[in-house]
Amino acid sequence: KSNQLALTFSSIAENVGIARLLIASVGAQLDLPLNDIEELKVAVSEAVSNAIIHGYHNRSNHIVYLELEVTDSTLKIVVKDEGCGIPNVEQAMQPAFSTDPERMGLGFVFMQSFMDDLQVDSTVDIGTTVTMKK
Ligand code: ATP
Ligand code: MG
Repeated sequence: KSNQLALTFSSIAENVGIARLLIASVGAQLDLPLNDIEELKVAVSEAVSNAIIHGYHNRSNHIVYLELEVTDSTLKIVVKDEGCGIPNVEQAMQPAFSTDPERMGLGFVFMQSFMDDLQVDSTVDIGTTVTMKK
């Protein structure tokens, strides 16, 4: 038995909370421990925030895609934007690397540590797809 969900939403900060709610209820359906659900919420909000803040430069007139694929033993989360893209993914994923001096550069670190698998596919001016598995 598998379950697929997709949510597309405007690139505004308020929608980070909606994305968190969706992953939290999927986690609850899977009977995951609260701590795991908290970690999933963090991973999803980091990826969605990155799409809005970096991918779309905080412009609200764009679309963020969140896709969830649930099976008995796995949870796959895809967060996609059609924004500016990442010129050097390996560098971007380094702890404390940020193109914004005001930021900590820890979003990818959280995603990496809270998920079993993290894959980042990005093309400049095409967009970024973050695929996470648990
Ligand atoms: P923090 O997440 O701690 O607030 P941050 O967002 O800069 O800081 P990461 O989430 O680790 O740190 O991302 C590292 C860098 O990767 C960002 O500074 C940005 O340059 C780039 N990046 C990440 N996601 C995207 C995206 N969806 N589109 C374009 N650039 C991105
Ligand atoms: Mg970030």
